[in-house]
Amino acid sequence: MFQIPVFLSRQKTEVMKTSFHEAILWEPLPEKSVRCHACAHRCEIRVGQFGICGTRKNVGGALFTNVYERPLAVQSDPIEKKPLFHFLPGTRALSLGTAGCNFHCTFCQNDDISQLRGEAVYGYDTSCRQLVNGAVEKGCGSIAYTYNEPVVFIEFVLDTAKLAHRAGLKNVYISNGFETEETFALLTGNIDAMNIDLKAFTERFYKTLCKGLLQPVLENIRRAVALGIWVEVTTLLIPGENDSEAEIREIARFIASVSSDIPWHISRFFPAYKMTSKPLTHLSVIQRASEIGYEEGLHYVYTGNVPFESNTTRCPHCGEELIVRHAYRLGKMKVENGCCPRCGTKIAGVF
Ligand code: SF4
Repeated sequence: MFQIPVFLSRQKTEVMKTSFHEAILWEPLPEKSVRCHACAHRCEIRVGQFGICGTRKNVGGALFTNVYERPLAVQSDPIEKKPLFHFLPGTRALSLGTAGCNFHCTFCQNDDISQLRGEAVYGYDTSCRQLVNGAVEKGCGSIAYTYNEPVVFIEFVLDTAKLAHRAGLKNVYISNGFETEETFALLTGNIDAMNIDLKAFTERFYKTLCKGLLQPVLENIRRAVALGIWVEVTTLLIPGENDSEAEIREIARFIASVSSDIPWHISRFFPAYKMTSKPLTHLSVIQRASEIGYEEGLHYVYTGNVPFESNTTRCPHCGEELIVRHAYRLGKMKVENGCCPRCGTKIAGVF
């Protein structure tokens, strides 16, 4: 029977060597260079070089990925841990990630896999079929592409997602939202739900702390909703970087402008990776951010990494307590046919 490796990323001696699989979403350029169109960096890559994500290499004038069917981390998680609170609550998601990322966030909490680059990349030899069979055996309702940015293993995502759908599973995609429009065209119909990080509301933050850009992320949140993908948004509040009341309000206002029904997850910062000298986010800031979310018209605001986790879903119309969560465990679940049983208001999500 297929044994799912359980988050063995630190046991480097057991993993397989790098191998290559032809990538999608690229075009040839003069002198055997290529351009990758998977994410908004649109890297121009010379022969023998990797793109910014460190997992896509120009080999002799064609683009290859070295993480196809090579996950570094696989485990069965509650879907609430992604976090997705309004998508099949109470179910489990077989969650997988590979090496590499198209961002270089100084506060990354999975830097031991996401910041691996180039020839140092490794992974378990695990087929798409094995993962889908494993998810079915484990009683999961979905497969989650997570831990690192899934666009860097988009070929692996799409091939697994198609098999997963045939097996009756859903696909959820946890992302920094930096895909291109072309990538979204491929995700449509294959990905059922997304959690997109909206890390801040300034280009300064994205450029200096993530080596990315804000604008494509905003466009992709709008795009994903317009394409009918179920979307939730997460923001990690970092002291002195993105936690002013004005910036929090801008984030909440933007999300509400796309849809008031998008659940917003506000998360508390803990020192990590290269950002170890910052203090934890003050609890009063998290509490105030939650209030601002509601003031700006959002219907569902949740807080993470805090002792008072206000993770109960209430009916936005009558206030009825509908879904009670204890950390990542589902307690009470009263949504009936997608509606509040007390007043009949439709509760946004997939239940
Ligand atoms: S996926 Fe990687 S190689 Fe492709 S554009 Fe993004 S960072 Fe560059």
